[in-house]
Amino acid sequence: MRNTSVDESDKAARDHGPAQLSRRDLLGVLAAGAGFGFGQARGGLVIRTLLKDVPPDTLGTAATLFHEHLSFEWARVRGPNGRGPSSGPEKDVGLVAEQVNIAATEGVGCIVDAGTSDVGRDAGFLKQVAERTSVHIVACGGLYMARTYPPEVATKSEDQIADDLVRDARASRYGAFGEIGETPDAAMSPEERKVFRAVGKAHLRTNLAIFTHNAYGTGPNVPRDAGLRQLDALESVGVKPQRVAVGHMCCLDDPLAGVIKDIARRGAFVGFDRVTGGAVPDDRKVTMILAFLEAGYADNLLLSADYNFTARSAARPGYGTTLTVFVPKLRQAGVNDETIRRITIDNPRRFLAFVA
Ligand SMILES: [Zn+2]
Repeated sequence: MRNTSVDESDKAARDHGPAQLSRRDLLGVLAAGAGFGFGQARGGLVIRTLLKDVPPDTLGTAATLFHEHLSFEWARVRGPNGRGPSSGPEKDVGLVAEQVNIAATEGVGCIVDAGTSDVGRDAGFLKQVAERTSVHIVACGGLYMARTYPPEVATKSEDQIADDLVRDARASRYGAFGEIGETPDAAMSPEERKVFRAVGKAHLRTNLAIFTHNAYGTGPNVPRDAGLRQLDALESVGVKPQRVAVGHMCCLDDPLAGVIKDIARRGAFVGFDRVTGGAVPDDRKVTMILAFLEAGYADNLLLSADYNFTARSAARPGYGTTLTVFVPKLRQAGVNDETIRRITIDNPRRFLAFVA
């Protein structure tokens, strides 16, 4: 379904003179031709939330945030060998549910909790949050990075890890695998490659989407092609790139968007999932996005904030940050409403939706 009309009526575009207008028109045309929504029911596709499987259409016009944190435990990740205490004082169902409900008033309809079991993802806690909000909560699983892996990962085979992931995904109603990360290093370690391949194999048996964590912005050890090598590892077991989101790409300062275009050219989603945070200021993230959209990749972009609510972080804009802080910056740069709708509504649903 194509619609090549451009929003002629937009006053802001008229007021911005010829250069702005032409960019705005261009982005509008790209957006109109690039995406597809879920206007009609499509072949048994569902998004698996903690409470039920929902057809993507039932999310209406609300946005989906594909990478946030509702039960991430920093104390655990930062403990010795990434294995600190398993609960923090900030873990309060009422407080987290309240934050999620605020995000609902800002246009959020679905939040993916990007926690894995080795960063303290707590399915029981998430379920209690889900029961106190109208926002759909999607739980995830997998393994974060070598320093947080449980000791048995070292001795288990790829297939044994995949078996564990498939079993856990069914038992705990995972809606995706993520965030799957790696240590900031020049090359992916053999152990992390084993985990990436195991997650890929678990995906082939469950159809659950996969999203990753990259360490861009943490120092010179991380090569520019780190996101591509993650895709290589997943593709090496037969994962289709269309089912993968390569994460934290907005932390790579790449004004011409070269690396993310390479990722999108292979068919994968590109995660701008640290909007308003991370190593690269928002104006540079916007520059990258404009270059990416002009190259025709509106369908491949996902936005989220990687926000982790704790009592200490309560002053930040919260789970709605992507919509309340970052999206206005895209609008100001000339990205039109139709493109924003595709990016915030259609793309994350298409990413998550699968045949159970
Ligand atoms: Zn995260």
